[in-house]
Amino acid sequence: HVRVRFAPSPTGPLHIGGVRTALYNYLFAKKHQGEFILRIEDTDQNRFVPGAEDYIIEALNWLNIPYDEGPNKEKNVGPYRQSERKSMYKEYAELLVEKNKAYYAFDTAEELAEARALAESKKETFIYNWSNRQSLKNSLSMSAHEVQQKLEAGDPYVIRFKTPENETLQLTDEIRGEIQVNTKVLDDKVLFKSDGMPTYHLANIVDDYLMQITHVIRGEEWLPSLALHVLLYRAFGWKTPKFAHLPLILKPTGKGKLSKRDGDKMGFPVFPLRWKDPKTGEYFNGYREDGYLPEAVINMLAFLGWNEGEGSEKELYQLEELIQTFSLAHVSKSGAKFDPDKAKWFQHHYLQEQTTEKLAEEFQKILMQKGIQADLPAIEIVVNEIKERATFVQDFWDLSHYYFKAPAEFNPKASKKAWKQDTPVLMQELIELLKSTEAEKQEELQTEIKAFITDKGIGFGKIMQPLRLSLVGDMMGPDVFHILAFIGKIEAIDRIQFAIQ
Ligand code: GLU
Repeated sequence: HVRVRFAPSPTGPLHIGGVRTALYNYLFAKKHQGEFILRIEDTDQNRFVPGAEDYIIEALNWLNIPYDEGPNKEKNVGPYRQSERKSMYKEYAELLVEKNKAYYAFDTAEELAEARALAESKKETFIYNWSNRQSLKNSLSMSAHEVQQKLEAGDPYVIRFKTPENETLQLTDEIRGEIQVNTKVLDDKVLFKSDGMPTYHLANIVDDYLMQITHVIRGEEWLPSLALHVLLYRAFGWKTPKFAHLPLILKPTGKGKLSKRDGDKMGFPVFPLRWKDPKTGEYFNGYREDGYLPEAVINMLAFLGWNEGEGSEKELYQLEELIQTFSLAHVSKSGAKFDPDKAKWFQHHYLQEQTTEKLAEEFQKILMQKGIQADLPAIEIVVNEIKERATFVQDFWDLSHYYFKAPAEFNPKASKKAWKQDTPVLMQELIELLKSTEAEKQEELQTEIKAFITDKGIGFGKIMQPLRLSLVGDMMGPDVFHILAFIGKIEAIDRIQFAIQ
């Protein structure tokens, strides 16, 4: 039975890389009818940022990839915040000491700095492990009595993992295959800190075990920890879950890792939702506020490191389809280049898929903010006319303002082209025609006006261009007769009159 987890540290807003990790976990869980768990890894009090947890949850909900278990969705393996599980970790750290797989270390920060400096002076790097444990202050280099005394005296200590000395580990990653690591290069990582808190490594392994996690799917930056994690499972005598490390997300240029600053610098969001940094008050853009649909963001993220396989040209996947087709076997090893234009492309597609009713409702809100009252059936007509050219609902106004508001000015270039010396007289005649005709509908108006032009024996442009200019203020937009029928003759006459003056 598959159980996966997304385990963010609440140190700030979730960025695109984090959301992709969440998505892949979600897809994998759903594909295998398993559970998707949210665990908040908040043991590092110094890096805790208020609001980050709420942000993470809101982002998952907005994207329609909610967790099955987690904060406020407690099941029997909770609580799901590590800060609320604090008491458990010490027990497990001590269990490892008992099993002789970990040890107490009493070295002060100064002593460690000294040891580091000494190594550096010899052009070496200091690694706390089997090679020098004996010369440092820990329960492997001291007598049991001495250790006991220190503990009783309340001397600060950490608990370190006792890395085996010279062993080649065979590690398996579901995406990268077999990886060999020799334990010689590993240091004895701190598992439990002097402040009474576990480190990430200990808490992560203990929780994955207690929460019965079967697959650990996480970012590539955790690959260097894999050896230690596998050793920890072994030390505890627990079954190891399967591991999959997702490829890095690279800048659009392909050079270097995408950073949270890149978004604002290059003009696209790297966060799902807008984030206000509580410390600096600085704002970062979010996909939601920029008008993206969650479907578009999901589709874009799914392709950051995954595709259905060789030869598949399919790019459009709804969440349900992704669940059906997703597999770790088709996640790539190499970094995935982030492409903000592709996000727009997906967005354009999913906007077209929205119902006219829904889009009209959204557009009505924008119109209302501009003080324009229009009823939904009318807005729906406009939406159908323009949506193909729109990527976001926010584009609707620019594409259709002339349906709702008379132009206040005319594009000078267009005026020069469309408005000739004889235009005012011709436009006056057109006004008379509009005043006298019974025609209301697009086709009727078209027939009448075309007949009027033919009768006069002039080119169509002589009327159609200044008419468009009068109604739109520019030479762009859909069929003039459509606009004319929509705004009605009275409004049209007003606009033409205004243009003549
Ligand atoms: N708390 C870690 C993070 O913020 C979790 C890494 C993992 O999934 O093991 O990415």
